[in-house]
Amino acid sequence: MKTILVIADGLAGRPDDTEAGTCLQVAKTPTIDGLVSRGTAGLMHPIKPGVRPGSDTAHLSLFGYDPYQYYTGRGVFEAAGIGMELSENDVSFRTNFATIDPDGKIADRRAGRISEGQEELEEALSGLTSEKYPDVEIRFKTSTEHRGALSISGDGLGGNVTPTDPHELGVPIPQSQGLDERSSKTADVLNEVTSQARDLLESAPINVQRREEGKLPANAILSRGAAKYPDIPPVEEVYGITASVVAAGALYIGVARVAGMEYIPVEGATGTVDSKIINKAKAALKELDRGKDLVFIHMKGTDNASHDHNAEAKVKFIEKIDETFAWLDDNIDWSETHLCFTGDHTTPINYGDHVAEPVPAMAIGPNVKPDNVEKFDEYTAMNGGLGTFNGQILPITLSYSDQLKKFGA
Ligand SMILES: [Zn+2]
Repeated sequence: MKTILVIADGLAGRPDDTEAGTCLQVAKTPTIDGLVSRGTAGLMHPIKPGVRPGSDTAHLSLFGYDPYQYYTGRGVFEAAGIGMELSENDVSFRTNFATIDPDGKIADRRAGRISEGQEELEEALSGLTSEKYPDVEIRFKTSTEHRGALSISGDGLGGNVTPTDPHELGVPIPQSQGLDERSSKTADVLNEVTSQARDLLESAPINVQRREEGKLPANAILSRGAAKYPDIPPVEEVYGITASVVAAGALYIGVARVAGMEYIPVEGATGTVDSKIINKAKAALKELDRGKDLVFIHMKGTDNASHDHNAEAKVKFIEKIDETFAWLDDNIDWSETHLCFTGDHTTPINYGDHVAEPVPAMAIGPNVKPDNVEKFDEYTAMNGGLGTFNGQILPITLSYSDQLKKFGA
């Protein structure tokens, strides 16, 4: 048996998303409704009732991991998501290239959303070292635009440090503080690296050129989201399965990689409403053909549109997901595959951020007992056979596929 888990980020909404109800209610989704008619639905509290989930903690919970036990911070997922190989000696940060003015104050937290020269900037930072702790290894990798990740690696480093990104302008870069003894060493290194990066970037040819062109130089890095590598057992160990992830956003790729899933890049997948998500579906079935037990497909557009308060874009993206499901429905071998579709949290259009309310979820496949739900949205899911539950949608679906280990004798 095979399993496909599809998560549309921020899928669920509130009654006032549009004049006619939530975006899921308004969107025309004949395929998804057809699938749920053959399957079962329920309402999922991503972590537990009354907890506003971050996307990272929600995904851990959906995969069956207790985020209160395993979550160390966002930085490690961002770093893993852009391809850094990490281990338990690493403390990772997500970073921004920023512009510092001649008075040493932050003039732009994103260096004018710098769109080129990432390779040169990464090259300029390839020589970062700690003079105070020469045994510590420092790595830096750029991602898209101003984004990147920093990893500090060595024995006895704590991850409990304050950020060097103050999230405001007109102030100098703050010194990082370690909140315990082991983390003081990490903060010392981070402060050294931050000041070294300023010198290295200031003189980098790409910044000389940017100044000549009247553009803001990327002459500093700001770090946040400090995270020790989490002690998460891989899905292979927990469930005895092999898995791949098909996603575009670094955070989601990172959570899945840290959970032991293999990242499969997909052409045209952008992590935005314009993403060619049909290519994700095609890549997913290829992974199952290649022998993987599970494929996790992540789609981000629903959440982007919600944060932008754009109901029309969210409805359109949900309809694009429906078209993708039409292709999947035609091409999945339903005699041996279970499919699950849900979101990682509710992101209402008017509120524009994650809230604690539950999300509809559904499962389809040969071992699923169909219930009476015939349309898929926040209301109908209340009446489904899965009932109301907390996270754990992956193990719930794996059980249908006979891929779950027994608890006890
Ligand atoms: Zn999310």
